[in-house]
Amino acid sequence: MDENDWASNMETRERAACVDAVRDAARHKQHSTGNGICIDCLEPNEPQRLNELRCISCQEDEDKRQKMRYGKRL
Ligand SMILES: [Zn+2]
Repeated sequence: MDENDWASNMETRERAACVDAVRDAARHKQHSTGNGICIDCLEPNEPQRLNELRCISCQEDEDKRQKMRYGKRL
């Protein structure tokens, strides 16, 4: 197997894993959301974020927390 085959094989596998992760997240979301209420501040979400867990400002805070937690290896 030459290097290109190996690389494209890895890419295909990574893409499949990524799709699985997205599907899992979507499934999880369906169970955990739907009422349009932010899980952090318990205020109603913005209309465009009814399917999100958090309102925009809490999501920004959460993004910052995630970056602090995982930022070093990104
Ligand atoms: Zn909020």
